[in-house]
Amino acid sequence: SKDTGKNKFTLFDSKMEEELNRNTIIIEVLRNAIDNNEVYIQYQPLMELNTNNVIGFEALMRINSERLGFLTPGEFIPIAEESGLIVELSSWLIKEACMFNKSLIDKGATPRPVSVNISSVQINRPGFVAMLSDILAETQLPPQYLELEITESTLVSSIMDATMLLKTLQNIGVKVSLDDFGTGYSSLNYLTKLPINTLKIDKSFIDNICVNDKDSCIAESIIQLAHSLDIRVVAEGVEHENQLALLRAQHCDIIQGYIFSKPLHPAELVDIIEEDDLI
Ligand code: C2E
Ligand code: CA
Ligand code: CA
Ligand code: CA
Repeated sequence: SKDTGKNKFTLFDSKMEEELNRNTIIIEVLRNAIDNNEVYIQYQPLMELNTNNVIGFEALMRINSERLGFLTPGEFIPIAEESGLIVELSSWLIKEACMFNKSLIDKGATPRPVSVNISSVQINRPGFVAMLSDILAETQLPPQYLELEITESTLVSSIMDATMLLKTLQNIGVKVSLDDFGTGYSSLNYLTKLPINTLKIDKSFIDNICVNDKDSCIAESIIQLAHSLDIRVVAEGVEHENQLALLRAQHCDIIQGYIFSKPLHPAELVDIIEEDDLI
């Protein structure tokens, strides 16, 4: 009856109700984002410190919806993961990113990997590896120019044993980068056993390397350990000159951060790369 409905309703406070409504709307937005052209990609270049060249770029998902305007990944990615919609959205992103990278190579640019973020929801879906192979075959992007960014916690929660998973990915030829390194679950013995090409030190360490000796030591140790294992190191979220100078002194290989470039629209990235490659 109407009365019970009202009673149930009062169990929620208005803040909770608002959040629930917003979540429901975001799910709707995400479900239709591809059809409505409300999802797009920005690419953030990675700079190699030895050469000052762009050595790759990370694809970052963006949602700008008619209903809610711009949504931050911090808000919509967890909802996309919980609802399972990340699977479709990410397949779309990976295919777009591979097509974009192939078009750059076809234009005569130096081939560079495009990196994409992979959630645990995706990795645990049967057919994940087949989806990657299909996209690579369809777009004709050589597999070594696709890099998957995977966090340690995703590796740990992988249904397939992490070693098996990474060996399978290595077999199809894609690169693997360990994302957000140093946060959450950290198991150093992983590094020695797994076929990983790159390790990305999380921004939370990089933020404080110039003010906190401990964070500076952690960064330096990670870099030395990685190098002893033949793994390249990316510092995420570099914003200031003094951070850059310190990272150079610590022999960090690559930086990604506002000091070099914010995430860019595809056409803006093309400009930077053409300038870099003199084409
Ligand atoms: P992430 O993988 O750690 O990506 C790096 C984030 O740091 C990006 O935030 C980037 O814009 C930001 N960033 C880079 N340099 C700087 C800097 O110098 N200063 C500051 N303040 N920020 C910087 P964004 O684009 O908001 O993405 C946030 C997170 O959302 C990503 O963190 C990633 O975990 C997730 N995400 C984004 N796109 C995707 C996607 O397609 N799939 C999945 N599964 N996750 C995604
Ligand atoms: Ca990432
Ligand atoms: Ca990261
Ligand atoms: Ca991060």
